[in-house]
Amino acid sequence: MLQKRAAPAGANVRSDVISFGQRMSSSGLSPGKSGNLSVRVDNAMLITPTGIAYNEMRPVDLVEVRFDGRLAAGQRIASSEWRLHLAIYKARADVGAIVHTHSLNATALSCLRRSIPAFHYMIAEFGGDRIACAPYALYGSEELARHAVKALGAQEGCLLANHGAVAVGETLRQAYERAAALEVLASQYARALQMGRPRTLPKREMARVLEKFKTYGKQTDVKAKS
Ligand code: 13P
Ligand code: ZN
Repeated sequence: MLQKRAAPAGANVRSDVISFGQRMSSSGLSPGKSGNLSVRVDNAMLITPTGIAYNEMRPVDLVEVRFDGRLAAGQRIASSEWRLHLAIYKARADVGAIVHTHSLNATALSCLRRSIPAFHYMIAEFGGDRIACAPYALYGSEELARHAVKALGAQEGCLLANHGAVAVGETLRQAYERAAALEVLASQYARALQMGRPRTLPKREMARVLEKFKTYGKQTDVKAKS
């Protein structure tokens, strides 16, 4: 009988990161080699390598960066944004995956250095009444990591001034879907800005939306009231 060969630890996680990276690139969510993705593993993260096209990336190219800063020998060089990813995992125990993009409209808005206000109720998907924009700092710097952690706070995404966007999730799929949702909101806001002055929803209305969102899409067995 053929012996099934044990997959190396984390093999599925590695191929998931590659698939989402390839999707991010081929769908145009982040152009060229821009952006990066990571997932939390035991006391470490697995992050995409720096400067390699997503369609050429193989699972073995992902880099394991331990939370104590140690790197295993013989690996590729980690994404230049490894500090930003690491800082978010350290600040947010609930985050299991991070997707950073240079998606078109989110990036364009980040160049205005403005947060995205509650121009649409779906902003609540990101856990608050706006999506903050972190101040500018050099890509890959510790300063950018600090700014991003602060702008993110307890929310699920933020912009990085003159750079792009970050989305987080419990899973890679959730982080990816949020990165895509952030781009949709950014494109709607950019369009509204072209048409006039978007009216934003007041804080108390957003508080109602946030409350309603607690049960939105939850497929629990709640009996409908007749
Ligand atoms: P890396 O290829 O080093 O991940 O850089 C891409 C990027 O978006 C830097 O901010
Ligand atoms: Zn970037």
